Amino acid sequence: MEINKLKITEIINKIEYRHDEVILPWSFNRCNIGFIQTPLDKERREPIINFIEKIKDPKIINGNHTPTYNNYRDHIYLPKKEYFDNEYDYYHILFHELIHSTRYYNRRKICSLYKTSCTTSEAKAHCFEEAITEIGALLLCDIFKIYEIFDQGIHYINRWLTSKYHEITLIRRSEITQETLDRMSEEAISGVDYLLETYV
Ligand SMILES: [Zn+2]
Repeated sequence: MEINKLKITEIINKIEYRHDEVILPWSFNRCNIGFIQTPLDKERREPIINFIEKIKDPKIINGNHTPTYNNYRDHIYLPKKEYFDNEYDYYHILFHELIHSTRYYNRRKICSLYKTSCTTSEAKAHCFEEAITEIGALLLCDIFKIYEIFDQGIHYINRWLTSKYHEITLIRRSEITQETLDRMSEEAISGVDYLLETYV
C-alpha cells in the first residue's frame, strides 16, 4: 500500500482561501451521526479491519460523544461505529485521529511548520494541525478506497485554513504560499507513511 501522489496534488489544488464566513474553529461538527448505518462493502472493509486490528497504541476507545485524540493518555475516542450514518464516515474520522496521534510520543519527527513557523498563536497552529491532519486522513481514505468523503474532507481543510477566532483571521492569505502547501503535504505524507510502515 502506498500513497497516490496524484491524490496529493488533487487535494492541494482544491485548497482555497476565502474569508466570506465566520467560523467557530473549535466546534465544527463534521460527523454524520444519525443512527442509520449503511455498512461498507466487504471488499473495502476487510483491509481496513486488518489494519485497525494491528494498532495496539494509541488505544482506540469507542463510545465517546466527540471524536478526539488525547495526547496525554494516547487514546483515540470515537462515537460507536453504529452511530454513524455510513460506516465509511467512521473510518474517515478514525484515520483523522490516527494521523493526529502520529505527531506525539516521538512517533515521528514533528515538522517545523507546526512547531515553529506557526507559533504566533496556539490557535493558528491548531488550524494548521487540523488541515494537515485532514490531508493525511484523505490520503489514507484514498489508500483504503473510501472516496465518498473527499469533498467533505476538502471542506474541512478549507474551513480550518480560513478560521476566524473572535473575528480575528488566524491565517493570512499571504501565508498560504506554495512552500507552505508543500510543507503541509510533507507533514501529512509523513504521518501516513508512519502508519503504513508501522501497522500494514
Ligand atoms: Zn482533528
